[in-house]
Order: sequence, then structure tokens, then C-alpha cells
Amino acid sequence: MAALFNNVYGLPGTAAEWDAAGYTADSAYQLRMTDYYASLIKEPSAQDPVARQGVPRGEELSTAGEQDALGEGGHEPVPGLLHVYSERVLLLATDHCAVNCRHCNRRWRRCGRRLAAQDSTVAGWLDYLHGRTEVQEVLITGGDPLTLPHAVLEDLVSRVAALPSRPVIRIGSRIPAVWPERVTSRLLRSLRGAGPLYLHTQFNCPAECTPEAAQALGRLADAGINLGNQMVLLAGVNDDVAAIAQVNRWLVRQRCRPYYLFLPERVQGTAHFQVDPWRAVAIAEALRLQLSGIAMPTVVVDTPNGGGKVPLHRGALVARDGRVGIRDLLGRLVWLP
Ligand code: SF4
Repeated sequence: MAALFNNVYGLPGTAAEWDAAGYTADSAYQLRMTDYYASLIKEPSAQDPVARQGVPRGEELSTAGEQDALGEGGHEPVPGLLHVYSERVLLLATDHCAVNCRHCNRRWRRCGRRLAAQDSTVAGWLDYLHGRTEVQEVLITGGDPLTLPHAVLEDLVSRVAALPSRPVIRIGSRIPAVWPERVTSRLLRSLRGAGPLYLHTQFNCPAECTPEAAQALGRLADAGINLGNQMVLLAGVNDDVAAIAQVNRWLVRQRCRPYYLFLPERVQGTAHFQVDPWRAVAIAEALRLQLSGIAMPTVVVDTPNGGGKVPLHRGALVARDGRVGIRDLLGRLVWLP
């Protein structure tokens, strides 16, 4: 833990305590976080929900699972542009994030480089999109696009919004949860040219529901941006009905609609976050019994190669030979971790 315990983030505890709790400095997917997010860590404990999301654990060194569990690499007609479903495309605008989330399903794509959306890259994307009037929605993601320099973000957003199909723009960003001070009037100005804008963020546990995060969400909502939350169900972080319900009730008060609750994919280095599918169903049922409709996310399994986001419920699971699967929206059986 010596490298981790150069401790530029001011994490609590000693290197020996982090070691004893199962954390490691050896992961190839480097530790990166903001001072703000580090301040939410209470102790060097395997049960600390923020530490589990932000600090590498020894289990990450396991080679179980796949790198590209969603098969995105097979749907990348232009580098950095994913076109899996006909009506929408994803632009991977940067591989940089404020926090390297340990459960990230695109961790395999990133190695700490800062791939700002350069003109030639953007031009290639716009060329591809120009004649494709079927594309109704462009999701700008990454990495975290709200870490881009303001001018780059502003240019990208306004050029996408000006495409002939006038696509709706959606941004995927954890910034409100991990770096709320980043949501400044300058950042909001850089999003002005987007037209109707949706921002989907990711709050996963009650410790992330702070006054600073509430202020960031409030600024975004006041700027007319439609907010949604895409939570991930993570063992040891939020596989608990009360914790999820608390976050979702808080989000509704911040004008951020709980949108999806994802089962984590079979991504290499993240097996320790997996939740048994039957347990996930039980959590979903308990949430449905207590939350109002606006506070209840759709609980889904994101299936590979364009199989869609399949709603998870008891009747959707298939048990066979000691394994559990789910049929994707194309009728294919997908085995769950
Ligand atoms: S902010 Fe999003 S893209 Fe970046 S590491 Fe976290 S989950 Fe992955």
C-alpha cells in the first residue's frame, strides 16, 4: 500500500489498516479520486461504501469475467462512437474521469490518458451522423465528459445539437456525486447550446447524498437540465433495501429522477461487486413495495450485443443446471454472473 499511501487524497487510517481491510495499490486500473470524494470515506474498511467504490481492492486482480462484457467493441464504426441501437449513438468523449470507479464497466477502455475530443475525432463522428436521420438521441459519455475543458465541451455539444436530425443530447456523468464543485456557472454555460438536455448521473449510496451534491443537482435542475440517476447494485456498497430507498427518496427531492438500477455486468476485476440475481429480485420487490412510482427506478440487466436493458423480475429469470440466466429482448438466453 506504499504507493496508495503517498496519500495525496488524505484518506483516513494507516497503510497497514488499508492492507488488513483487503485494499491494494497493485491494480493496473489506477486509483484516482477527488479530494471531495475522498472526504466521504470514513474508515479503511471493506464495508465503507465510498472506499469500496473508489479504492482498489485485492479482488480486482482476479481474471474472472470479461473486459468488454457488453460487447461494445463490435459496434464501433468510428473510433469512440458506439452505435448499438439504431435510434441512438454513444460518443466516448474522453477516457478521463474525476474518480476511477472500481465497478466501472468501461474500466478496460481507460488507462489514465486524457483523450480530449479533438477536432479530427469530432469531425469523424459528425460525418458518420450527418446522414443518419434515424438517430434521435446522442449520448455523450466516456469517461466523464464533464471533466472536459469547457471550450471542448461547448463545441462538441453545440455541433451535435446542430446535426440535421436535431438529436436530443444526453450526458452521462458522475460529477454531481464525486466532484460537485465542478458544477459552476461556467460549466453550465458550456451546455447552453445543447437544446433539450438530459443528464444521467450515478449516486449509489447514502454517504454520497451530501449538501454539496444537492447544491450541484439544484444548479443543474435550475438550468433546465432534466436529471436522472443510474444506480448500480453493488455488493458491500448498496445491496440493502433501506440504503437504496434512502438515496432514491433524496434524489426525488433534488429533482433527479431515479431511472435505472443496474445489475453489474461480468466485467473483469469487479466480481466482488456481483449480487446474486435472486437476491437482486428480492431487493427490487421490497423497493417496489415501499417506494412511490417516481422514486422507483426500473431494475434492469444490461445485456450484451444489443440485447437491450431487460427488466429484472422473478418471472424473467431462468434457472438451469445450477446457473441463472435471463432472456434478452431478442430472445437469447444470457447467463448471469
Ligand atoms: S465516472 Fe462513469 S465512466 Fe468514469 S469510472 Fe465512474 S462509472 Fe466509469
